[in-house]
Amino acid sequence: MSGDPRVLGVDLGGTKISVSLWTPDARRLARRTFDTIPGSAGPNLDMIIQLGRELLEGKKPIAVGVSAGGPLDHERGVILLIPNLSGWTNVPIGERLGSEFGAPVGLENDGNACAIAEHRFGAGRGANNLVFVTLSTGIGGGLILDGRIYRGHRFLAGEIGHHVILTDGPPCGCGNLGCLEALASGTAIARRLKERKRILEKKGQPTDGIPRNARELVECAKQNDFFSLEFLRETAGYLAHGVTNVIYILDPEVVILGTIAVAAGDLLLEPMRAELARLLWPAFRKDLKVLPAQLGFDLGDYSAFAVAPIPV
Ligand SMILES: [Zn+2]
Repeated sequence: MSGDPRVLGVDLGGTKISVSLWTPDARRLARRTFDTIPGSAGPNLDMIIQLGRELLEGKKPIAVGVSAGGPLDHERGVILLIPNLSGWTNVPIGERLGSEFGAPVGLENDGNACAIAEHRFGAGRGANNLVFVTLSTGIGGGLILDGRIYRGHRFLAGEIGHHVILTDGPPCGCGNLGCLEALASGTAIARRLKERKRILEKKGQPTDGIPRNARELVECAKQNDFFSLEFLRETAGYLAHGVTNVIYILDPEVVILGTIAVAAGDLLLEPMRAELARLLWPAFRKDLKVLPAQLGFDLGDYSAFAVAPIPV
């Protein structure tokens, strides 16, 4: 190996893939992104390797970190499947990137990887017990318990999006009814907005300017639009119920929420905190922090870097 040591990060999402280059002390030097190529994993892996090589300029990295959506085998470095992406079953990404780059590869579920990144570099610094909630198209999670990532027996721990909030609630993609994801994810927000619009139309009330998705909802709420603020408050209520359950079980010090909470900030988090104050025993509220991801929209890259097995 020649030159300064470098670390490669790969943030593998259903719509976008980011490849980033880092120093071992967490300085991001460069990044490249591309839209996830539909179909099999092969062309995506080829593109990751090509962009990685360009970023490395012929040098060998000391470690590679991969954060990926969906269930995976952390020990064998195999992605078991990625929801919404056919052709990504049993992909031995650890072996492939390891042999291409000649470096150890760390593979982690994106919820876990985000929890690790926020714990090391973001809003969870110094906390021993932390819950991270990914809040974008879907809802996932990651748990830091007693200072360490908790993966569970099958590496599936932290599926916060699929615990049931309303037993007679709307159907979830997983087959159950009323999961948190079916009520408060980006996909659920868009569906609820559409339903609300239909109800207003039926009543003959105006529906101009009703947002169509989470991004528009946050924009409208920032303009003080009454409907959007109320709708965000309702969404915050679902999230608060979900987070309350997790808090009663795990007693964390800090709960950190991703993407939509980063965009909405206190417009979502303040009503959530108010609802938590109503739902939680006072003892559970002592020192409790509910925060947006501090790494903001860079969290994906940080999460990939954070799981790279850098030799000490
Ligand atoms: Zn579900």
